[in-house]
Amino acid sequence: MKRSEVDRTKLSPMMQQYLEIKDKYNDTIIFYRLGDFYEMFFEDAIICSRELELALTGRNAGLDERVPMCGIPYHAYTGYLNKLIDKGYKVAICEQLTDPKETKGMVERDVVQVITKGTRIDSQLNEKDNSYIGSIYDFEYCYTISYTDITTGYFYALVIDHDTNKLLKEIINRNLVEVIVNSKIDREIISILRENYNILVTIIDDIYELNDYSYLYEKITDVRLVTTVKHLLKYIIDTKRGNLSHLQEVEVVNTNNYLTFDVHTKKNLELIETIRLREKTYSLLWLLDKTKTAMGSRLLKTNIENPLTDMEELNRRYDIIEKLLTQFILKEELQRELNEVYDLERLVGRISYGNLNARDLLQLKNSLKVLPNIKRILDELNYGKNIDTLDEVYDLLEKSINEDAPITIKEGNLIKEGYSQELDDIKNICSGSKDFILKLEADERERTGIKNLKVGFNKVFGYYIEVSKGNIPLVKDEFCYERKQTLANCERFITPLLKEKENIILGAEEKIINLEYKLFMDIRDKIKGYIGKIQKISRIIAEVDMMTSLATVSEENNYVRPCLTLERNIIIKDGRHPVVEKVNKSDYVPNDIIMGKGVDILLITGPNMAGKSTFMRQLAIIVIMAQIGSFVPAKSCSIPIFDKIFTRIGASDDLVSGESTFMVEMKEANYAIMEATPNSLILFDELGRGTATYDGMSLAQAILEYIHDKIKAKTLFSTHYHELTSLSSDLPNLRNVHVSAVEEDGKITFLHKVKQGAVDKSYGIHVASLAKLPPSLIERAKEILDIYENKSNNKQPFVQTSLFLPVDEQDNKSNYLEDKLKEVNPLEMTPIEALNFIYELKENMKSKE
Ligand code: ADP
Repeated sequence: MKRSEVDRTKLSPMMQQYLEIKDKYNDTIIFYRLGDFYEMFFEDAIICSRELELALTGRNAGLDERVPMCGIPYHAYTGYLNKLIDKGYKVAICEQLTDPKETKGMVERDVVQVITKGTRIDSQLNEKDNSYIGSIYDFEYCYTISYTDITTGYFYALVIDHDTNKLLKEIINRNLVEVIVNSKIDREIISILRENYNILVTIIDDIYELNDYSYLYEKITDVRLVTTVKHLLKYIIDTKRGNLSHLQEVEVVNTNNYLTFDVHTKKNLELIETIRLREKTYSLLWLLDKTKTAMGSRLLKTNIENPLTDMEELNRRYDIIEKLLTQFILKEELQRELNEVYDLERLVGRISYGNLNARDLLQLKNSLKVLPNIKRILDELNYGKNIDTLDEVYDLLEKSINEDAPITIKEGNLIKEGYSQELDDIKNICSGSKDFILKLEADERERTGIKNLKVGFNKVFGYYIEVSKGNIPLVKDEFCYERKQTLANCERFITPLLKEKENIILGAEEKIINLEYKLFMDIRDKIKGYIGKIQKISRIIAEVDMMTSLATVSEENNYVRPCLTLERNIIIKDGRHPVVEKVNKSDYVPNDIIMGKGVDILLITGPNMAGKSTFMRQLAIIVIMAQIGSFVPAKSCSIPIFDKIFTRIGASDDLVSGESTFMVEMKEANYAIMEATPNSLILFDELGRGTATYDGMSLAQAILEYIHDKIKAKTLFSTHYHELTSLSSDLPNLRNVHVSAVEEDGKITFLHKVKQGAVDKSYGIHVASLAKLPPSLIERAKEILDIYENKSNNKQPFVQTSLFLPVDEQDNKSNYLEDKLKEVNPLEMTPIEALNFIYELKENMKSKE
């Protein structure tokens, strides 16, 4: 049964209320609160029963047929909710706004928040990842993007060209998990985002004035950026429905300030995760991440994804690492203190949004506690950043919040003694009465002489005095006992005094819980006033943490401070690939990368498995490390600042779009050629191998010439087309290098050493034999290689010798056959004549053999 098909006039009032709410949230699943359950109806119920494996039931709602329904218990809804969100659904939580016990007629209900992929604030989020929600606004001649991490409040905006590739690059590289777009955007882009990248996309055109939040964007002068920010804000306000005072002023991103690369490059260089297992382990992030806080870890990841181009800032970072390395005792002390700092960025989100508990405040207190020490260390290091230690906030929390406060804030036990006189007074009265009751048992036994008299408590009857059946005759009128309950073997009584104390205790307990809650809320509101300051501290702490991590990694692995030059020369001595080195331990062979004046292209030849692509990746990784402000794996390193990196390494077939390796290869090459500047770095690994030999070789050569003459970007180009090495005589800015290997007794050993000049021999067959291909196949390959090599010496073309005859004899035979065949007309021959003719031909052939 579909929602749109029912006769609403026949529906029960509750179901009418449901449908009124549901009408406002067409693309959203409604979790509709009914007592202790969230229920889903109609199509929502069918989706949820399928996705969450819930039993689909029905509910009588005034119609002939039952309405499809399924439900989940409200106290355990988060697991179900997250499952739906991960699958790309939006969920609206519809709560009961009035107490059913106190409401006559229908309980009021409404949606209190909508949860989507990009707007959730929960413990399911990976603490080391930012998850951004963004707006893409298509102006038809450019796009503007704004995006924010709702948990930390960081907010950015940028303008980019009207170019699909660039748009996708920004969305993916900036880790947007959900976007809203205006309807002008190309539908193809929407489907790529949804299908290839699992990004939740909603189309919305409305833009509203948002006076409450205008401070976030009032300094932005570009109205196109303001439009995308408003576009996004409206959506967030509608979904979150809470206070969003932690959102930070929008930072306008100038893409020129960053070293940019596309999604494939990020993947190929294994910056964040490895290609094969898609895991952080063995990625660059894994290597560099020795941070102590989640904030530091997130900042490091953002930096690896967005290295800088600002020489001054990079040198400042190198200076910091240098200081940390010389003052290693202070560095270690700093790391110990950082260990104590909680995720303040996300905590601020919870303070603002309101789902904060006492444990969060204790974490805040513990973080603030170490700030004076961190401040002192930074001063001693001359770090150049000043931390506000927020002593008054620390004092407030130290005085107020109980060390063993529970997670819930509606059970009391939140506030310390001595913080509120009113609270302490009520607690005293309450505990005085409790003491009275504790003593009562002994007093009453003495007063009545009933030895086994007990004082007890239960939720229904409150406090009572219990006397066993056998002792009932001993109960006298003068005791003023009032019979309350009769059980099989005892009677329970109350007395006026006991009732009075009970009232005091129960009244006080309720008062205590309410007062503690109120005091807690007041403390939270006071801290809300510090959101901006805490955010400033968080930024500094995250940076300090990242820099300390980079210093630690540099120290552990013997990295060196890079020297950034204004000239376009690369001089790296004994460079290493930091991750391969880490994994290979002591076996890594360092290599120089020298591209001095007048050298733009290195053409790299060498056998497979020799280390060509590692050599290429090594340069890109060194550049990226240098441009996030880290030391680099080399003995010395002098490099210019790069603006973009392009790579075509490995076979990254675009399986989703169904394009062939070669097509993807050419598209990536084209992208590099169109976008690269003389300040870019291009890495092409065996470009052109995806097509026929001469085809591929010609394309590779043409691309090399184009880069050489027109782009002049620094380029590493590996190839197995040895013919290309002769290009060095025509292209003055191209140099040949090769990765050597030694061959002994038919076996090959890779030295991984890159040397000047071109390689003179292909070791492919040896590699194949190392890979244990069948010996007969290897022999055959050697035979063919001989023929190829002869051919290159102008001796013989390549042929499969065992099948064909030498060309001149072949010609003789075919001439005889041709002549004979021309002489006859099969249509005029009888079968016997035809047979004889074939026999004659055969005999003739035999005589010639
Ligand atoms: P190619 O691109 O020439 O086929 P790779 O760069 O993929 O070769 O390297 C092959 C293997 O050799 C890699 O698994 C890597 O571990 C190892 N290797 C490459 N370069 C070095 C080096 N400089 N030192 C030590 N091992 C290396």
